Amino acid sequence: MQVNIQSRQLQNCCKAWPEHADLDWLEANPGKMFHTDTMIADRTLMLEDKSCVSCHHGCYKYEEQGLSSERLQQSNKDFISDTNAPLKRLQLSLSTDCNLTCMYCSSQFSTSWYKEIEKNGKYVLEGQSLENDKWTKLWSKIKQKQRSTESRFFDIVIREIKLAEGIEEIKILGGEPLLNNQLFEVINAVDCDNIVIITGLGISAGRLAKFLEKIDNNKNISFNVSAEATGKFFELTRYGITWDDFTQRVNMIKDKGYRIDFISTVSNISVLDFHNFVELYNDHKININPITDRQFLMPHVLDDRSKKDLIDDIKSRNNVSQFQEISRLVNPDPGETDRKNFGNYLKQFSSRRSIDLSFLPEHLRKWCGL
Ligand code: SF4
Repeated sequence: MQVNIQSRQLQNCCKAWPEHADLDWLEANPGKMFHTDTMIADRTLMLEDKSCVSCHHGCYKYEEQGLSSERLQQSNKDFISDTNAPLKRLQLSLSTDCNLTCMYCSSQFSTSWYKEIEKNGKYVLEGQSLENDKWTKLWSKIKQKQRSTESRFFDIVIREIKLAEGIEEIKILGGEPLLNNQLFEVINAVDCDNIVIITGLGISAGRLAKFLEKIDNNKNISFNVSAEATGKFFELTRYGITWDDFTQRVNMIKDKGYRIDFISTVSNISVLDFHNFVELYNDHKININPITDRQFLMPHVLDDRSKKDLIDDIKSRNNVSQFQEISRLVNPDPGETDRKNFGNYLKQFSSRRSIDLSFLPEHLRKWCGL
C-alpha cells in the first residue's frame, strides 16, 4: 500500500488510482486506514482476478493492449486471501520536492517538473498534453513542512502505523525524500525495523554526507536507488544530475556500509544502455520497473534496427533474468501515435534543456522524426 502525505491519498498499490483520505472518518475509525471500505471492495475484486477502476488505471488498460503491467510483474506465490489481512509493506510518500526532471516523471511527483512547465509551458503531443494541474499549483505555494509532516493527516498516518501490527517494511519516497528536512524525524516516528529510502540521489554531496552522519548506528536502513543507464543516457533520462555526481553519491552510501538495491525504470531510451549499467553494478540487486504511465516511452516504442541490435545483444547474455524480461518488453509492435509522440516529446524535452541528442543512434532519431 502507498500513502501520499502531501496529497492525502491512499493507494492499494503504487499504480492504483488513489482514494482521497477522509480525515474525519479516519479519526473516528482508528486502525482502519489500511482497510477502508473502498480498499476492501477493490481487494475483493482483486482476489477474483477482476478489474476495478483503480486497477484498470494502473494495470488492466495496458494488459488490454497486449502490454506488460505492474500486476503481472509482481505476480508471485505469496497469495493473501483475506481482504482484512494485516499490512506487511507500506510506502510512504512525503512530498514532491525534487531537483530532477526524469523523463518519465511529471509535476505530480517532482517540483522541478512543475517549475519547468510553469516557465516553458505545457508539452503538446498527439491526443495528450503534459501540464501542471490545480493541485501541483496549490502545493507549490505551501511550505514543505506544512505539506508533509506538519499536517493533521501526517499525525493520523503515524498513529495508524503504530496501531498496525506486523508491518515488515516501510519504504519512504518523495519526490526526493533526501530533500525533506523532516526525513530524520519521520524515520524516528515510524516504528519499523526495516526502513528503505527510495531515492534518485538528486542532492548535493554535502547534504547526503550530513544525512549519512546523522543516521549512523540508527535503525536498519537501506537504499533503493533509481537508475538504469550510464553516461549521456543516464543524464538524459535522469535530467538534473550528472553521471559523475551520481556515481560519487552511490559510493558515499556504499562507503558507509549501507545496502543499495537499484530500481531500473526501463524506457525506450534507457534500454539502449542498460547493459552498461548492469555490468557496472552487477554486485547489487537490480529490479526492473517497466514504465506504465507514459506509453510513448515504453521499451517497445523503438525502430526495427534498435530492437534487432538489442535482441542480438540479449541473446549473448546467457539468460540473465533482467535481459529476459527486457526482451519480452520490447517485443510488441509500436503504434504510430506512440512513434510520433516519442519523437515530439524528445524534441521538446531536449530543446528546453539544451541537450544534444546526437549520441542516440542515427536510425532511431530518423525513425521518430528527429
Ligand atoms: S527522482 Fe523521482 S520524483 Fe524526482 S523527477 Fe525522478 S522520478 Fe520524479
